Amino acid sequence: MQDLDAASVRRAVIQKLEGFQRAGLTHWNRITPLPIAADSVTSASIVGPDLIMPEPRGNQVSLAHFGTMSAMSRVNPAAPTENSSLPTAAMFEPLNLPRSERISQLALLAERVGACIRCQELVNSRKQTVFGVGNPEAKILFIGEAPGADEDAQGEPFVGRAGQLLNEIIKACRMKREDIYICNVLRCRPPGNRLPSLEEAGHCREFLDAQIALVNPEYIVCWGSTAAKNLLRSEATIGKLRGQFFSYGCAKVLCTYHPSYLLRNPAAKKDVWEDMRFLFRDMGVDLTSKV
Ligand code: URA
Repeated sequence: MQDLDAASVRRAVIQKLEGFQRAGLTHWNRITPLPIAADSVTSASIVGPDLIMPEPRGNQVSLAHFGTMSAMSRVNPAAPTENSSLPTAAMFEPLNLPRSERISQLALLAERVGACIRCQELVNSRKQTVFGVGNPEAKILFIGEAPGADEDAQGEPFVGRAGQLLNEIIKACRMKREDIYICNVLRCRPPGNRLPSLEEAGHCREFLDAQIALVNPEYIVCWGSTAAKNLLRSEATIGKLRGQFFSYGCAKVLCTYHPSYLLRNPAAKKDVWEDMRFLFRDMGVDLTSKV
């Protein structure tokens, strides 16, 4: 066998990587520890490259388009009671693509989501996947929990009762729904609206991270504890997390109560309003001022 020095090995590795890049490889997958027995997963299913971004199509996608995955340490290290059994953040460096490219890359990603069969139970029960909607250049990105029956039927997040309340909140913040980008931890409805499992959230995480990277928002609002827990890897309650910003990549993250919780506990609406004022004050907007 040929004896290679370090420089030759380095050159060979770079050539190989450039070959992958020319073939359209977008990123290497970060290994996400899932709460499943190691021997139930083949190494090929959890070890990269596992392209979740658009399948290679000629030179259409390049590593440069998607940036490189960033270090875990960029998730706010101060997130309270970090729980290491939660899926790790397979976070992407934020991108700063022109609008037209964000639209086309999100559309390609939605196609991948539509064909996703990672969670058998959800695949068997879903009517369709629910990708996300809104402004691909939104300053604010909302993350909910998972589609419910209405969302599953219509293919759009937050279109049921909780969605109507969310629309009212958006209006009270002097924004339009179309100004914001809205998505969920999961892109499929869990049967009976049960909570997403850690495994399901882990499977969907790359899609969420890719949406965040493409939209590149300044602010992320986690609506409810499923979103907060998954994004920040925190077990803390919303009561503990609200009223402060965390960071995720370049975005400031605010956690507040889920609209479904508000439907059951209208008294908490004043807390959400306080949280919205806190968020908008940071953007230089006083929501209590006269318009
Ligand atoms: N609840 C959510 O968390 N997301 C939806 O899309 C609908 C209801």
